[in-house]
Amino acid sequence: MDWHRIRSDFPILDQQVNGHPLVYLDSAASSQKPRAVINALSHYYQHDNSNVHRALHELSSRATDAFEAARKKVARFIGTATEDEIIFTRGCTEGINLVANTWGVQNLRSGDVILITGMEHHSNLVPWQLLAQRTGATLKHIPVLDDGTLDTAAVEMLLTEQVKLFAFVHISNSLGTINPARELCAKAKAVGAVTLLDGAQSTGHMPVNMLDIGCDFFVFSGHKMCAPTGIGVLYGRYALLKAMPPWHGGGEMIASVTLEGSTFKEPPHRFEAGTPDIAGVIGLGAAIDYLEAIGLENIQRHDTNLSNYAMQCMSEVPGIRILGPQSGHRGSLVAFHLDFAHPHDLVEYANTYGIAMRGGNHCTQPLMKRFKVPGTTRASFYFYNTIEEINRLVEVLLAARKFFT
Ligand code: PMP
Repeated sequence: MDWHRIRSDFPILDQQVNGHPLVYLDSAASSQKPRAVINALSHYYQHDNSNVHRALHELSSRATDAFEAARKKVARFIGTATEDEIIFTRGCTEGINLVANTWGVQNLRSGDVILITGMEHHSNLVPWQLLAQRTGATLKHIPVLDDGTLDTAAVEMLLTEQVKLFAFVHISNSLGTINPARELCAKAKAVGAVTLLDGAQSTGHMPVNMLDIGCDFFVFSGHKMCAPTGIGVLYGRYALLKAMPPWHGGGEMIASVTLEGSTFKEPPHRFEAGTPDIAGVIGLGAAIDYLEAIGLENIQRHDTNLSNYAMQCMSEVPGIRILGPQSGHRGSLVAFHLDFAHPHDLVEYANTYGIAMRGGNHCTQPLMKRFKVPGTTRASFYFYNTIEEINRLVEVLLAARKFFT
């Protein structure tokens, strides 16, 4: 693979920041966009822009065709049984809230357990806290071990028949841990629990296949996999979606309306009220085409090489503590704490050298408490990053030591 040529598909990367070449190491927060996606958005607005599903004129039918073609692409990309299992959302957060407010409200009662893990992003924690308050269900979590993996003994103990929902992250955005999704979903199924997998950090970084993983719900955000912001996906197993009540009411989700009441469309349209982010959906389709042309296995291999290399070089920086698994297969990010600098100060210092990283709690405050750190600095990689950029990061970390001490 010619990764340097692939990198040149991303115009934003070719710039100087504070007099240095930009080193973008914040893709776990949001990825950059290739020209193919930017052009698809521009083409849509220049040629086909119109509302979908509503009119019989040429532009509307072009927009509708492109919109529904993207739904088919997503279904193929994540290996679902049918495209009717794909609901467009604003992102992971909205997808999880949709499940909590529909399936959750309909199915949970006092005495039921919602099981999560101690490494969840706030978006896979707070909606369940709200749901527990509303329904009287109890929220429990599987603890995280010192090495950043889940406590498997606790999984056996906690995954009981009281558990109605088991929601967990596929790849942790704060540790890089890859959870054994297929195995955990099978265990949950054995006790009759429904599963929700947060695919924010896995989708677009590795092949994901719903039928193979065996989860009931899956969420991801387009902006973390080369697509625009504001668009994401909720996958739900069709039998579950069909039994779920609507959440948002409005145009396009109804079958018929009278002043007295309404009936609703079948999924997925029942869950897509109002005008959707049409350009975002088309951009997501373009991102999928782009990623598939490179190959998800190739992307995964390259990401893994980058993060293995980074782990190796960064672990030699004096005073560093890297969170998460120290060896083995891990996601493409390294989150760390330096004993001589607060993460916010370090991120600002690195920025003066053109390096973009994220410092803070990464929307995982309970995890920061668990590891007794005020926050961490996170360097996260995608296939457009290079070994030279990691070398540059290590140089700047070594210089930071002199600067801060
Ligand atoms: N889960 C994980 C693991 C994430 O990393 C993120 C984004 N940081 C989210 C959920 C939420 O995604 P979004 O803000 O796009 O809804």
